[in-house]
Amino acid sequence: MYFRIASLALVFAMTGNAQTSTQAAMTAKSGQWAIVAHGGAGVIERSSMTPERDKAYRAGVARAIEAAQAVLNHDGAAVDAVEAALKVFEDDPLFNCGKGAVFTAKGTNELDAAIMDGKTLKAGAVAEVTRTKHPISLAKAVMLQSPHVFLVGEGADEYAATVGLEQVPNSYFFTERRWQSLVNQLKKNGKPVPQRPEGAPPAPSEPQADLETPDAHKYGTTGIAVRDRHGNVAAGTTTGGTQGKQFGRVGDTPVIGAGTYASNDSCAVSATGTGEYFIRLTVASRICSLVQYRGMPLQAAMDEVVQKQLGAIHGDGGVIGLTPDGQLAWSFNTPGMFRGKLVEGGQLQIGIYRDEP
Ligand code: ASP
Repeated sequence: MYFRIASLALVFAMTGNAQTSTQAAMTAKSGQWAIVAHGGAGVIERSSMTPERDKAYRAGVARAIEAAQAVLNHDGAAVDAVEAALKVFEDDPLFNCGKGAVFTAKGTNELDAAIMDGKTLKAGAVAEVTRTKHPISLAKAVMLQSPHVFLVGEGADEYAATVGLEQVPNSYFFTERRWQSLVNQLKKNGKPVPQRPEGAPPAPSEPQADLETPDAHKYGTTGIAVRDRHGNVAAGTTTGGTQGKQFGRVGDTPVIGAGTYASNDSCAVSATGTGEYFIRLTVASRICSLVQYRGMPLQAAMDEVVQKQLGAIHGDGGVIGLTPDGQLAWSFNTPGMFRGKLVEGGQLQIGIYRDEP
């Protein structure tokens, strides 16, 4: 199934017409579920990707969408589909969340995640998580099992353990590719390089051919917006943050309204990019407000915020989202964004570069 979807996606992407990233082609009818996901935005260009990498990223996005699809096909709720998809991303070392997250300048992994249910307006968020294997499940537990919305650091990990979520050493999140990328960035900027983390595999004795350039996939955050068959929407986002960040830094991802927002009265949105700018504009809830109060189509609302307002303050990145009435859209102002969308009974559409639909 997975290979069928992945190869379908590849064929579609390779034969798709060149369009700008801001054209929304897909809508869902009443009673159909819908999914739109991203795997991060940034300086992602064909020239910096090998065909194998290109294929692997598309397959990774397809696999996450397939996990959400499995939940929705069983009449599952949007929030459960969000969690299922984002756990798949968190297990995939290609993406900047869970295993494969970027490092702080201190050489540690600090993870942020959030989830929001558009039906109830309940939300859960966590930041600076260092030992919970699936931060998105922790965010969901905060939403559903605690009286709170936002837990950080030690308290968040401790809460995860009390609700039975799997705990791992921080070195579980280590990948050689992200480590080399951090080392390169710190050296380039004349900053001290921390010791290789305790528990990490030994340094390879030979240079690794497959390590990417530092900036090629600096972001790589993942997020998803889902509408279930009952018309309820939900959104979630999970990330390691930005490479080389100050430890203790929190980006937009877990800030409800900035990187993640969902309401059945407007839309569900997940963002990726330079988090500090997304926080300043409260990007996700601003898009939903334009839909709700100005009556704008989702695509127009996204373009207004991402292409105009975010660009005006020099923020870069993108958003994906959908509405309870079945509009699916994305918008980004970077050269690329890993992304995909699927409506029940329809064809999976996956893109990476700006000139893909
Ligand atoms: N928005 C995330 C952050 O600032 C990073 C990303 O989207 O890649 O933490």
